[in-house]
Amino acid sequence: MHATILIADADATRRLMLEFQLGAAWYRVVMATRMTDAMAMARRLRPDLILAAMTLPGGDAPDLRARLRDDPALARVPMIALTAQNDRAARLRALAAGIDDALCPSVDDRLMQARIRSLIRAGYSSEGLDLGGGAAAVAGLSEAAASYTARPSGARVTLITGTADTARSWHRALARHAPAHRIVCHTIDAGGRLLPQRPCADAAVIELSAPRATGMLHLLAGLRAAGATRDMAVIAVPPAGDARLAAEALDRGAHDVTAPGFDGAELALRLAAQLRRRARADRQRATVQDGLRAALHDPMTGLYNRRHALPYLAGALRAAAGRTEGVAVMLADLDRFKRVNDHHGHPAGDAVLTAAAQRLRAALPAGAMIARYGGDEFLIVLPGTAREAAAEAAADLAARLCRQLGEQPVRAPGLAAPVSVTLSIGLAIGPAAAPGDEPAEALIRRADRALYAAKSAGRNRIAVAPALV
Ligand code: GH3
Ligand code: MG
Repeated sequence: MHATILIADADATRRLMLEFQLGAAWYRVVMATRMTDAMAMARRLRPDLILAAMTLPGGDAPDLRARLRDDPALARVPMIALTAQNDRAARLRALAAGIDDALCPSVDDRLMQARIRSLIRAGYSSEGLDLGGGAAAVAGLSEAAASYTARPSGARVTLITGTADTARSWHRALARHAPAHRIVCHTIDAGGRLLPQRPCADAAVIELSAPRATGMLHLLAGLRAAGATRDMAVIAVPPAGDARLAAEALDRGAHDVTAPGFDGAELALRLAAQLRRRARADRQRATVQDGLRAALHDPMTGLYNRRHALPYLAGALRAAAGRTEGVAVMLADLDRFKRVNDHHGHPAGDAVLTAAAQRLRAALPAGAMIARYGGDEFLIVLPGTAREAAAEAAADLAARLCRQLGEQPVRAPGLAAPVSVTLSIGLAIGPAAAPGDEPAEALIRRADRALYAAKSAGRNRIAVAPALV
């Protein structure tokens, strides 16, 4: 399906010209002539990008940006303002309003197309983090309107230029408009050494000018591809009037290019927009990671839950089968835990359960996995042990876990006095499932039968499942 571009412009000639230009590049083009129509169309069609004249009947491009931001489904639609050629004031006003770029409609077609491609690409990649239903549907992913125009400060910005003279003049000009950033200068020869630098800068500004333009383009593409610098915001500064280099920089992955060569005020605004975009992406990543963590952990004890434990065990068994190693599985269940609740109350029971879980986790060797399998039951997996030694080592460990918990009463916040708890453990070594059986579940069933035997034999002990051949 082709991307949809909304053109909002009262000027019929300009509309037709853009429609022709964009239609030739296979975009689906829709048009509006006034602010209210533009908003209605945007709501209905959810365009991938909006091209808006700087002034429209009923408002101007900054107004349109602000209205789009009020609608969570449209807040992040990329937008280009159409300005007159060399209208610096309009360009700065558009950028300050959080509009992604400001271009003259008669700009070189390659540059217009590259700019549109790069903004649509960036729009899709930020959508990739929406968990369905749009950003607004996910708590924590919707953004306050102010976060789209705030001026981030204290960023580490690297200027990569051809000569030290250029670096000095850029440094001065940028520092005047963005005094809170920490600016570092590199000349092209040092540029290559930026790649392995850690922690890398938050943003790089790269000069693209002859005779080093080709080398700078390679460096730019390298910065965008390398793991250490992939998330760094990259802004290219082509020489004034060189639309070909500007287009090429965008196609090689630059997040932004300056329009007329170097302009400190403009660069400060573009830098702010890129730093905001980066901060938004970082927040979204963190939200997604928190959600993922919560999905795989038990909130009370902080241990993994079944959703993590079962695929983990299945994976450990698959890996072990290929290497003729053993995987030890323990089901550990607190003894007579109902009595703890009965004597001390449920909240105290929670505290004892949590403290016992933490004691067990702390007593396990590196590489072991422990999950809360159910109420007062824990699943422990010891992967990749040499097969002959697996049973003996795991039985020693299980016995130690029982001793360590049973010998020292549990202290926990909210408990008047330490509470004695003991543990029974059923142990089975895999993989040794009967044909047709699900190996992970079969192994857990054997551990469960051994746990039952340990409980029946009087509790506070371990039982080992018979080996299967
Ligand atoms: P057994 O020695 O046979 O394991 O006896 P038990 O009393 O521990 O019984 P069982 O393991 O069958 O039941 C577990 C009990 O643990 C049931 C419930 O009262 C308690 N329990 C389960 N989950 C929680 C929890 O999250 N908090 C608290 N406080 N108690 C729980
Ligand atoms: Mg129990």
